[in-house]
Amino acid sequence: MSAMSLQQQTPMVVLVCCDALSRDWIDPAHTPVLSRLAAQGTWCAQHRAVFPSVTRVSAASIATGCTPERHGLHGNRMGLFEQGKVRVYDVGHPDFRTHLRRATGRTLKVPTLAERVAPVRGFVAMSNVSPGAAYFLDPDHFGTVYHRAGSFLPGGDAVPAADALTIGQDFEGDRQMTARFCDEVLRTRKPSVAVLWLAHPDATLHGAPLGSPAHLDALRHADRCVEEVMQTVRALRAEGEDVLLLVTSDHGQETIGDSVDIEVWLSEQGLAALVASGDLAVAAQGTSALVYATPEGERAFVTILDALRAQPWAGAVKTGEALLSRGVSMEEGVIAAIDMGYIHGTNDYGVEGKRWAAAEPGKVKRPGFGEHGGWGPDETRPFLIVDRIDAQASTLADATSLTDIAPTVLDYLGIPASGMQGRSLLR
Ligand SMILES: [Zn+2]
Repeated sequence: MSAMSLQQQTPMVVLVCCDALSRDWIDPAHTPVLSRLAAQGTWCAQHRAVFPSVTRVSAASIATGCTPERHGLHGNRMGLFEQGKVRVYDVGHPDFRTHLRRATGRTLKVPTLAERVAPVRGFVAMSNVSPGAAYFLDPDHFGTVYHRAGSFLPGGDAVPAADALTIGQDFEGDRQMTARFCDEVLRTRKPSVAVLWLAHPDATLHGAPLGSPAHLDALRHADRCVEEVMQTVRALRAEGEDVLLLVTSDHGQETIGDSVDIEVWLSEQGLAALVASGDLAVAAQGTSALVYATPEGERAFVTILDALRAQPWAGAVKTGEALLSRGVSMEEGVIAAIDMGYIHGTNDYGVEGKRWAAAEPGKVKRPGFGEHGGWGPDETRPFLIVDRIDAQASTLADATSLTDIAPTVLDYLGIPASGMQGRSLLR
């Protein structure tokens, strides 16, 4: 077999994630390219986020085909046991993996796509979201991950400074990253799996209302980035390359109505000493929160559970085995998951529904701006389009999940997807 025909038979999967682009915002006016792509490929009409509906957890679920209970990354913030007490860390920081390894002896509990395709043509990701969300696509350096905070080669060495991804987290940064992804990753390097993760509309919505001109600009921006990738994929196919294109988002966003510091509230219920000692801790996840406790902390928490459930900001509280139904492990210190409460009304742009947000250190939860993290109606409605060269236009009416992406990728590449919770959407 000639080198050319061998190359032509080696498939490549291209995954583009438009962070926080809920499928309700896809229409011919705001996202003409996505609308056309959805009409031509397979549109997953009931695609669902994972809980918490935050980016770092979503990245790990897309990378592993598993929910947090199985892959072990609990949230954007996460409690770890250190000397028998809970300490909550921000998963977004570049050094979080060091703390996770020290506390648990590992990063993720299951293999990633990057590990599984390392023996083939490998994995390359370019991401413009938080460092943590980029690095949890491939936390143990089986592939190459580019991020403005640092880019790493297989094995963990930094990429040479001249090749670093020196971009801003603005539209221009997304555009530069997309152009480089198309030229360098898709046209030249052709890995088995290529991932492009855009910062917008998510980064826009954390500082602007849903439906505002800024949000609509961010939708058009993401749509144009997708167009560039789509045109590159079409050109590669015309040259004989076998390319599967998946275009997706990780979650949507909802509107902040008000915010509350749950650790302060727990302290006011007479539990201040347990909060101070690390026997009881809250890891805020935007419109949800995870409560961690030692056995002593849990005994005290149970006594205030009814009062917690009565708070207007506590929309729903899951404990015990009900945690598993949300994909939350019962064995790693989490004793409760809170979906933050709902506030009736519309925002200034007529978008329905507002939410309580859980306060977190160093971040302002400004009423009117976007937020996500819980199991609310809009934040859990990401989109997924499967675009195959030979496919007929179709709609998948069954529920699909972020965890179906990795099995789909591996199925296309002809690699077994053992141990994954999701299923291939190609069957
Ligand atoms: Zn996100």
